[in-house]
Amino acid sequence: MTDGPETADADAGEYLPDDVGAVRSALVEWYETDHREYPWRETTDPYPILVSEVMSQQTQLDRVVDAWRDFLEAWPTVAALAAADRADVVAFWTDHSLGYNNRAKYLHEAARQVTEEFDGEFPETPDGLQELMGVGPYTANAVASFAFDNGDAVVDTNVERVLYRAFDVPDDDAAFERVAGALMPDGESRVWNNAIMELGGVACEKTPRCDEAGCPWRAWCHAYETGDFTAPDVPTQPSFEGSRRQMRGRVVRVLGEHDDLPLDELGPRVRVDYAPDGEYGREWLRGLLDDLADDGLVDVEERDGEAVARLRR
Ligand code: SF4
Repeated sequence: MTDGPETADADAGEYLPDDVGAVRSALVEWYETDHREYPWRETTDPYPILVSEVMSQQTQLDRVVDAWRDFLEAWPTVAALAAADRADVVAFWTDHSLGYNNRAKYLHEAARQVTEEFDGEFPETPDGLQELMGVGPYTANAVASFAFDNGDAVVDTNVERVLYRAFDVPDDDAAFERVAGALMPDGESRVWNNAIMELGGVACEKTPRCDEAGCPWRAWCHAYETGDFTAPDVPTQPSFEGSRRQMRGRVVRVLGEHDDLPLDELGPRVRVDYAPDGEYGREWLRGLLDDLADDGLVDVEERDGEAVARLRR
């Protein structure tokens, strides 16, 4: 991939790390190593991509897969859909519980437009795609990105959550747009939008899975650093599940990134719900550290009346 400019535009640069090229590469490498497979991500044909986008507006992605396959079996090309009887398309929508029937009517009409008004070729830009019936800015941008690698940065609630947590972007539509746009490498909308949506979908979920999902932005992430994982759609600290074994692993990983850490700085990096005097507080953390010390992995010492932990070297 190309990294585009090393520094993002001045306004967005206020929120983004200086090494924005490394931030971009880390995410794309993480995505390309492993991601959820959806059949419409295997094609660059705009017709099946549009069908998947319209279906997934109201239906969970895993449930869309079968409906999408059946739909393309019934109407394999945009011309076939344009030639279909509208009542059959609506009946399909109802039979597959895909939500508002209007979406089926719009999709059928969009196919007719492509066939009759655009000589069978989809427009390739977000603006051009919005001329199709029922295709709003989000869908147009998704089709332009995934079919033509020609879109802008996607900004949905998942992306907003990621940007808010990782780069401390304020909860403000214009700021999200600006930072998302500056972060996306020029001309890389297909892989980039897939990657950042995957990050929001499998790592930076409402309850984040930073370590479990191997989030590639931990080194830069403001939330990971501070332990505050609230977000615009997560107004209170999310509940955080974790086995003792996972927590031990996490202590070791966090300490590996620091020379040493006082308990109250280590705690929030280990559990998002760490509170010094709470159930998961100093006493709980001290118990974990004592176990790790018994296993020869960690040392805890008192310094200026404060317990400080470090990896045993
Ligand atoms: S480190 Fe955690 S909170 Fe930060 S971006 Fe990654 S998954 Fe989200």
